[in-house]
Amino acid sequence: MTEPVLRLEAVRKSFGGHLVLRDVELAVPAHSVTALIGASGSGKSTLMRCANLLEEIDDGAIFLDGEEITDPRADQDGVRRRIGVVFQAYNLFPHMTVLDNITLAPRRVHGVGRVEAEDRARELLDRLGLAAKAGEYPDRLSGGQQQRVAIVRALATGPRLLLLDEITAALDPELVGEVLAVVRDLKEQGMTMVLSTHEMGFAREVADQVCFLDNGAVLEQGPPEQVFGDPRQDRTRRFLSRIV
Ligand code: ADP
Ligand code: MG
Repeated sequence: MTEPVLRLEAVRKSFGGHLVLRDVELAVPAHSVTALIGASGSGKSTLMRCANLLEEIDDGAIFLDGEEITDPRADQDGVRRRIGVVFQAYNLFPHMTVLDNITLAPRRVHGVGRVEAEDRARELLDRLGLAAKAGEYPDRLSGGQQQRVAIVRALATGPRLLLLDEITAALDPELVGEVLAVVRDLKEQGMTMVLSTHEMGFAREVADQVCFLDNGAVLEQGPPEQVFGDPRQDRTRRFLSRIV
């Protein structure tokens, strides 16, 4: 079998004595989409923050393309360049244009020249139907457009893996569709993604595997037809009956 893009091995994480991830095992194959589902507080964001090295794990190991990134000797900037992240609230810099928001990390952190960074940014904006917005400031865009720009920004370093943490949760319902459409396109293009969502219909449609987190533990994991259609655990059943 080929090496998964992302692999978590017995990952444990606690905050001040409160165990938030309990020996989590997860393998994300290349070009696949993994949906993390589970109640608020179940550990979805923490899992993604650990994968992006925003949080330090207490035990276990995380691998990116087979390389242990939780090894203290790992190149943290290199890891972050290979993992794009989008959070719930669009966190674009309000005082910068769309183009500057997107090219900031490639230029400042990763040493890409302005021309090359801007060319790539414009190409990505074009692909997401935002070419006309390059010179705008974020507050001139709708929430959905801002979140699409945040996705472009996450793609700007050419990552191996995208982590999308409830990226539609803060949007007005009528703007959710355009953001989910981008995720659908990225899947079609073969992007490897891990996303957390409360949009169960979308998770079912787009995910290759669904991972149900309950109080920091992976309670159930499998293809969407199985987890949604025939959950093995009562707790999964109860969670789904509450949310759907
Ligand atoms: P989810 O994304 O599934 O809602 P989180 O990963 O945000 O869950 O949170 C999991 C648990 O960890 C919650 O109990 C939350 O209160 C706690 N937690 C998350 N981040 C921190 C932090 N920085 N400090 C203390 N507790 C935290
Ligand atoms: Mg969360």
